[in-house]
Amino acid sequence: MMLVFGKTGQVARELQRIAPDARFLCREEADLSDPQACADQIEALKPNCVINAAAYTNVDNAEDESELASLVNGQAPSKMAEAAQKLGIPFVHVSTDYVFDGNGDQPFSPGDPVAPIGAYGSTKLQGEIGVRAVHDTAVILRTSWVFSAHGTNFVKSMLRLGATNDEMKIVADQIGGPTPAKDIAQALVAIAHAQMKDRKAGSTHHFAGNPNVSWAGFAREIFAQSGNQTHVIDIPSADFPTPATRPLNSRLNGESLMQDYGIEQPDWRVGLCEVLVELGEKT
Ligand code: NDP
Repeated sequence: MMLVFGKTGQVARELQRIAPDARFLCREEADLSDPQACADQIEALKPNCVINAAAYTNVDNAEDESELASLVNGQAPSKMAEAAQKLGIPFVHVSTDYVFDGNGDQPFSPGDPVAPIGAYGSTKLQGEIGVRAVHDTAVILRTSWVFSAHGTNFVKSMLRLGATNDEMKIVADQIGGPTPAKDIAQALVAIAHAQMKDRKAGSTHHFAGNPNVSWAGFAREIFAQSGNQTHVIDIPSADFPTPATRPLNSRLNGESLMQDYGIEQPDWRVGLCEVLVELGEKT
């Protein structure tokens, strides 16, 4: 049995669609702010594999709640990985482009130096380091700009705001790969199955949608595909201050995932079309 931490999140919901036989733990069953409780669940349930799709994901609130974010994103994944290692089973963990500083204009490769610029990224990096330290075959999948028909994400925000605004000012100097949660779920399951069948050494990979785009460009594609006439005006990040600074360069190089697992970076415009159909917003 595959055990998944997270039940209600974007990626977890897509995992439920493609791996209905897996056991999914919601917050009430495994609160990540209690790392030992997460490890206890693994020891009690004795799964064949663990995927961690739960995290403290509110980037702005993490600045003020860094202790909680550190427990959930840093210590809990380490404890889970430790329990998985004890059972001798694979552990697959989701991380983020926010572990990088966002400098430059080239896609980051998994081995590039990490230097998070905010609390969220720091706690996610703490989780990566903790997992790596205690589990010898753990796979860490870093992704970016996740969207789906569920939860809170940029696509849903644009559809909501675009319905009542003729024009919108959107940040155009942050560049990255929007990534459909469905594709992340498929990649996670493929990695989990591969690791259950024939265990490879621990590794970190990048998985993000292609082509890279700015938030403004992403918004234009959302409006084009949904038949919305809202005009998008490019603005710099400086004109849209947020509690947590966002990296300007979120580009991720996904070559190693292709080499090791044969998993290609998806075209996010295809995933966007599917999400808009699911939301009843496709024209
Ligand atoms: P969501 O924000 O959609 O969901 C987060 C999930 O984590 C929810 O199921 C939530 O449960 C759960 N969770 C949060 N805190 C706790 C806790 N204390 N105990 C138990 N469960 C908890 O996340 P995504 O699906 O978007 O993200 C999946 C992964 O991808 C995460 O590792 C994230 O860091 C990473 N990622 C996400 C990006 C994005 O744009 N969203 C970008 C890059 C990486 P509840 O509903 O109870 O709150």
